[in-house]
Parts: sequence; C-alpha cells; structure tokens
Amino acid sequence: MSNYGQVLNKLDVWSPHGALVGDGRFVSQVKRIVVTGGAGFLGSHLCERLVGEGHDVICVDNFFTSQKSNVAHLLGQANFELIRHDIVHPLWLEVDEIYNLACPASPGHYQYNPVKTMKTSVIGVINLLGMAKRCNAKVFQASTSEVYGDPEVHPQPESYRGSVNPIGVRACYDEGKRAAETLFMDYYRMHKMKIRICRIFNTYGPRMHPFDGRVVSNFIRQALAGDDITIFGDGLQTRSFCYRDDLVEGFIRLMNAPDEVTGPINIGNPGEYTIKQLAEMVIEVKGSPSKLVYEQLPADDKTRGQPDISLAKKHLDWGPAVQLREGLQKTIDWFKTIDIDQYRPPTPNY
Ligand code: NAD
Ligand code: UDP
Repeated sequence: MSNYGQVLNKLDVWSPHGALVGDGRFVSQVKRIVVTGGAGFLGSHLCERLVGEGHDVICVDNFFTSQKSNVAHLLGQANFELIRHDIVHPLWLEVDEIYNLACPASPGHYQYNPVKTMKTSVIGVINLLGMAKRCNAKVFQASTSEVYGDPEVHPQPESYRGSVNPIGVRACYDEGKRAAETLFMDYYRMHKMKIRICRIFNTYGPRMHPFDGRVVSNFIRQALAGDDITIFGDGLQTRSFCYRDDLVEGFIRLMNAPDEVTGPINIGNPGEYTIKQLAEMVIEVKGSPSKLVYEQLPADDKTRGQPDISLAKKHLDWGPAVQLREGLQKTIDWFKTIDIDQYRPPTPNY
C-alpha cells in the first residue's frame, strides 16, 4: 500500500509504478482510485487531492449536476483520467479504492427525477459494491445527515436511527441513501469487504454550482447580483455548515483509518446557524444591498441539523478548522471569479 498522509504538491514524473515528487523522492506503490461523481463540487476537490498525493485517479461522472470545467485543470496530469459514465450501468475497472460520491445532492435537482435518484443510490451502489468485491477494493460511501430525517435528537449522533418520511418528496434521496448504507453493511457482513460510510452534513465552498439550488450558493449568487435573498419559511430552521477542505480531509482520514472503522461516521461542522443568520452573514461579508424576502417552506424541510462529531474526533482525530465567516469569504471570493453564463442550470429547480 502507499504512503498514506503524505501530500505531494508537485509530481515531476508519474508512472503506474510510482511518482517522482518535487524534492526528488520516488514514491512507490501508488493506488488506483476511482471517484464516482468526481466532477462534482466535492468530487473534484477529492480528485485534486488524490492526484496531488500521486495516486492513479479515475474520475467517473455523468455530468448531471456538474461540468467538465471542474476537472479540466487535472486532464493534463498523467495520473488522472476522466470517464463519462452513469453508475446505474455496470462499470468494469481494476481498482484498489472506490469513493462513491455520485448522486445529485441538492433538493431541487434530486427531486427533478426522483426515480433516477433512487436508482443511483440503489442500483448504482450495487454496481460499485460488486466491482469492489471483484477487485477486493476498499469502498467509501458519501452518505448524508439526511438519513436522520427531521431529527428528534439534537445534535445527531450516529446511533440515532432517524425520522424520515418514507413517502415524502425528499424520500428519494433520504431513503436512497439509507438503502445504500444498508447495502454497504450487508456486503460487509456477507463478503467481509472493506467499507467506509461517511455521513456528510451541509458542506459549501468554492466550485459549488452557482445554480445548484442549495442555500449557500443561492444566497451568494443573489447577494453578488444585488437580488433579494430568498429565505424559505421563517428562516429559523438551522443547519451546520462545513467548509469543503475540512470535509475532504475527513474523507481521506476515514478511508485511511484501520479497517474496523467502517462508519457510519458523521463529518460536519458543529457550528449551528439559523438560515436567517446565514443570510445576514452573507450580506455582511459581501457588503451587499440585498434584502431578505420570505418564500414558502418546501415540503419536509427539516427544522434543525447539527452533527455530533465525537466519533470522528475519537477514530480519525478529525475536527473542522474553518469557521463559517472565513469559509463564506473564500466562497464569495471564488464566485466573483467565475463567469456565471458558462454554467447551465442542471434542472429548472434552483
Ligand atoms: P454535486 O451535485 O456537485 O456532485 C454529485 C456528482 O455526481 C455530480 O458531478 C453529478 O453529475 C454526479 N452524478 C449524479 N448522478 C450520477 C450517476 N448516476 N452516475 C454518475 N455520476 C452521477 O454534489 P456534491 O455536493 O459534490 O455531493 C457529492 C456527494 O456527497 C453526493 O453523493 C451527496 O449526496 C453527498 N453529500 C453532499 C453534501 C453537501 O452538503 N455537499 C451533504 C451530504 C451528502
Ligand atoms: N433555503 C432557503 N433559501 C434558498 C435555499 C434554501 O431558505 O434559496 C433553506 C432550505 O429551505 C433549508 C436550508 O436553507 O431549510 C438548507 O437548504 P439546502 O437545500 O441547502 O439543504 P438541505 O435542506 O438539504 O439541508
């Protein structure tokens, strides 16, 4: 296995047998790693990190909620490959590790074709678990805090079994991700596979799709344009926002943890804010003249969300380093650099 934890900033020479890094050292035994959903917001950062560590990275994506520009800067690297593929169809690759991030993550986009969302989390996950079993690969699932539904327990520990409406409009995502966790655990018990389940809480940062429809990207897009900021409901519902670099660090630590650390493990920032507080902070950090307007709360919108990260601290020695104001500043700075006309809304629901 490879040099875990070693971050290589510059790869001078790369081959499947190893990489010659900036200071002249030869790093052998690189891993072949597939990242599904690798062109998305989180996936593209994960690919960047793994390519930088010298691994042989295969990014698989159907570009439903992303575009090639997210990984265009990696295409020239000898240890990066991009495949347009939908995980609902079988995939045949020889790999050491699989990170499964493929799934629309924003409510508007995952509700656009709910049956497809469910297929992605069930049929897609069965395909990837089958590939992992054949290759004896370690496999990571990007699960979600949505498995807790609208929680009666606060903050949410991994032991909490959740309160999901199985017939609501969010169920295609919430129940799909719950079924994916079930499949991971069943493959683990039946086939003794190496699995990792990560429950991700709301994450934001540069490279979020501007028409993603999630709250941080919506508010920043609106604030930059001087438009009204759309608060759904009374704005008193809460979320806890994690900066993307903290999250990706959590992913890597979980994947590289001892095999008995299968998860589920919560990864998120416990700092809890109301949506109204978030809107006010975006306006303040941007210095925007935008006004707050209140719109109807979407069905099954949960009232609160905050991770209990005790397990991540204990098993991964992980905790978030970037607080909300700093992360928003970085995200706003990135949004200022992009040409919004280059982005196509994935669905009309943003
Ligand atoms: P994203 O929409 O930017 O990325 C998802 C990627 O998966 C996109 O590139 C999309 O095109 C691709 N994809 C979707 N369906 C696919 C399919 N059938 N086959 C192949 N590719 C497919 O969202 P993200 O925020 O980067 O989320 C990544 C993962 O993390 C998702 O699985 C999501 O459920 C999970 N997650 C994210 C958050 C968050 O706050 N960002 C929170 C909880 C869970
Ligand atoms: N939200 C909002 N205005 C928007 C987009 C979202 O007030 O323009 C609210 C939404 O109703 C929810 C919270 O922000 O209460 C987080 O929404 P998001 O879609 O980002 O994530 P999720 O609901 O899945 O946590």
